Amino acid sequence: MYQKQDLFTGKFSDPVADTIRILQENEPPEGYYLAYSGGKDSIALKWCADQAGVKYDAHYKITTVDPPELIYHMREYAPDVSQDRGEWSMWNLILHKKMPPTRNARYCCSCQKESSSGGRILLTGIRWAESPKRAKRAIIENDIRAHIANEKKSRLIINPIAPWADADVWGLIRQKRLPYPALYDQGFKRLGCVLCPLVSNAHRQMEEKRWPKIAAMYRWTFNKLYEIYGREHFALSRTWKSGDAIYEWYMGRLKLSPEQQYYLDLFEMENFGDEDDTFYEAG
Ligand code: SF4
Repeated sequence: MYQKQDLFTGKFSDPVADTIRILQENEPPEGYYLAYSGGKDSIALKWCADQAGVKYDAHYKITTVDPPELIYHMREYAPDVSQDRGEWSMWNLILHKKMPPTRNARYCCSCQKESSSGGRILLTGIRWAESPKRAKRAIIENDIRAHIANEKKSRLIINPIAPWADADVWGLIRQKRLPYPALYDQGFKRLGCVLCPLVSNAHRQMEEKRWPKIAAMYRWTFNKLYEIYGREHFALSRTWKSGDAIYEWYMGRLKLSPEQQYYLDLFEMENFGDEDDTFYEAG
């Protein structure tokens, strides 16, 4: 059995056994709603749910900017995961919002990523080691956002692998020989939307080369955006001079003047997104 020793207390713990216990102790009669991202944490979480013998259904939310290799991997190795299409494609959403998503105004996360579990208990694979923001999350928490969104019932979120370190996840995957997306062996540390505004410019530029068709769709959409709203939309018209300029800025190759940045800041203040990128998904 996989165990790890606490550096301070010297005590041994077993992350897998702890996770299985949490899953079994909180299993609702209707089963869990497991938010699945296709990444390594989802794979570990789903495996634990299977070992726990609890009832669940797993859902992947298609964003339309998903890495194709991730979708193929899920089709082959996780065919029981439901691939759910939302109301919006990323392209329609950008046109609807009349601005590109930005690091601070990541409106796409709430539309494309958040899972509506209809009041059921939501399982995620978020881990404290992933970010300082995630380190503040509890293993079992009440979802205030569901109340705000007027879901019929209040909802619990359970993050059963929150305490796991990266080594715990990879330790399980390697020990149990669980299939995982090859992208991890090709330099990707986390898997998510292609050209996400939250990643570094260098990473986005690398993805642009790897997935040129998706990058071309972003450019096309930004040009369409400017063509339709470039004159009338206050922040858009004052921040950029063309759709290509939006794309080059988005890719980190074009800097804004202080005045342009000011108008972008105004838009971001109005549309500030405090999501922890993949707030609801299983890592
Ligand atoms: S992960 Fe990035 S691109 Fe995907 S929905 Fe969230 S902010 Fe948008």
